[in-house]
Amino acid sequence: MRKIGFIGMGIMGKPMAMNLIAGGWEVVVWNRHPEKCKELLQKGARMAESPGALAAQCDVTFAMLADPNACLEVCFGAEGVLAGIGEGRGYVDMSTVDPHTSRRIGEAVAARGGRFLEAPVSGSRKPAEEGTLIIMAAGDRSLFDEVGPAFAKMGKMALYLGDVGKGAQMKLCVNLIMGDMMASFCEGLALASRVGLNLQEVLSVLDGGAMSNPMFRLKGASILAENFPVAFPLKHMQKDLRLALLLGDEVGKPLVTTAVVNELFKKAREKGLGDLDFSAIWQVVK
Ligand code: NAP
Repeated sequence: MRKIGFIGMGIMGKPMAMNLIAGGWEVVVWNRHPEKCKELLQKGARMAESPGALAAQCDVTFAMLADPNACLEVCFGAEGVLAGIGEGRGYVDMSTVDPHTSRRIGEAVAARGGRFLEAPVSGSRKPAEEGTLIIMAAGDRSLFDEVGPAFAKMGKMALYLGDVGKGAQMKLCVNLIMGDMMASFCEGLALASRVGLNLQEVLSVLDGGAMSNPMFRLKGASILAENFPVAFPLKHMQKDLRLALLLGDEVGKPLVTTAVVNELFKKAREKGLGDLDFSAIWQVVK
């Protein structure tokens, strides 16, 4: 793998592509709004005219896009990835989507003679910058082995989970836990506030015991400050809860807590909080 393509210069995609440039690969980028590629071009990347043109000239193309619609559009749209994939070239979609979307893309890529991996990630803006993401990959094994050095540059752990769909399932289960945890965290803090407890002391008690975790530590401080600098957009958290609920529906698994938490996140989106960090769910719960 010599030449790498990267599609999607959002909160996550941009630092991930930066790390690939720092790793010494020749990197070609594309973003729907091209101005977001500026910093990468300054670091030596080149910009392609379309996802298809990009996929046609790169050994492997990575994508990090908002949601299933964005992934389908970038793959199947006019001048999409499918227009340029083939002859064994690789497509690695690292966005968080549902297993059906992933399989649809994987089958289409394979039908054109390309190879496909889904590879959603755990970890937010800072791990993306530091190259310490956790990568949950599934699909073409030869492609997984080939992109190992690139995964090692973007993440601290890369798991191979089997057939396409398994990565999406793993990611949705993990994010369901994260969304539910955040809602419970805010609710406990809200009750503590109502009865007049010192919230800093509540955070200290949590951090000193078995429930201590980096998320409560990091987001607790911003919740108390009522300041929500975006790392993981609230709209994407709600998308993940929605997709997890759909998965639950398909396999007949009741997800009682998540169903309620999803409504809270929908309420937050309705209030216009979608582009803030997902910890801004505090504004609805408090
Ligand atoms: P983001 O900042 O909102 O970026 C989304 C990207 O998707 C942008 O490049 C955007 O292009 C592009 N996009 C959206 N709709 C499109 C369309 N119809 N056609 C083409 N491009 C489109 O999101 P992010 O935080 O980087 O997250 C990206 C993915 O990673 C999501 O699936 C998210 O759930 C997942 N994820 C995020 C985090 C996190 O902490 N942020 C952590 C783990 C996983 P424009 O710039 O042109 O709008």
